[in-house]
Amino acid sequence: MNTKKAKKLLVGAHMSIAGGLYKSIDRAQAVGGTCMQIFTKSNKQWASKRIDPESAQMFKERWKNSTISAVAVHASYLINIGSANHALRIKSIHALIDELQRCDLLGIPHLIVHPGAATNNSPVECINMIAQSINEIFEQFHGHAILVLENTAGQGSAVGTTLEQLAEIYKTIKHKKSIGFCIDTCHAFAAGYDISTQKGYELFWEQFDTLLGIEKLKAIHCNDSKKKVGSRVDRHEDIGKGELGIEPFRLLMNDERFYDIPKICETPKGDDEQAHDARNIEMLKNLVNH
Ligand SMILES: [Zn+2]
Ligand SMILES: [Zn+2]
Repeated sequence: MNTKKAKKLLVGAHMSIAGGLYKSIDRAQAVGGTCMQIFTKSNKQWASKRIDPESAQMFKERWKNSTISAVAVHASYLINIGSANHALRIKSIHALIDELQRCDLLGIPHLIVHPGAATNNSPVECINMIAQSINEIFEQFHGHAILVLENTAGQGSAVGTTLEQLAEIYKTIKHKKSIGFCIDTCHAFAAGYDISTQKGYELFWEQFDTLLGIEKLKAIHCNDSKKKVGSRVDRHEDIGKGELGIEPFRLLMNDERFYDIPKICETPKGDDEQAHDARNIEMLKNLVNH
């Protein structure tokens, strides 16, 4: 049997929740998505409005009756569970628990988060702090949603830039079942992994499997990069228009291991959000060899 046929190809983009959570489902369908990512609150504010049961119900109904198979949430950018500033770290822990609870309310299994930044400590200390914070989170949160750690471009003091750093965090986490990983193609490339060539692509995923385990991959952010390999600058570009080019996405879209892993574009939205997202999604879908 063709395994591709039995599984569903999951491609989509990050969608706005403006006007109501359920509207993100409509938007995702309108651009031809079969999966999507959302923020459940403002990504630049600590405060969050409670999700009332009616909104959660509406979201779940809309989702059930849609072509969208998988949904992931991206956590707020303010969160830094690796901070040496005690107050900020505790605030971040509470914010992440709140985000996990919001995922449970909406029936969303995965909360994607950037591991943290070493703004006032060394990368090694920051990594230890992240693992410790995650242990504290799962001592308090016993729901369904899991934390999905995303690789970073290495801009500024961000950690989680290399697969080794992600493995270092993972090693110390007690609740391993509650952890997954998300790979952002632009971030990996900016961090110095030249996945634009077949050799580099294969080597990267081989390392991922050795250090983290391929079954731990829960999402892929499909973004081309405005900047060159190893630039450590995080600038997303439309699929095929950047330094990565189209080939790594062709490899990704035809990689049997990733067929039903959500592949989510966080590409520039331009003036016409719908047209931009639809184009990038279409582009990815067209790369699949039938
Ligand atoms: Zn990303
Ligand atoms: Zn990015």
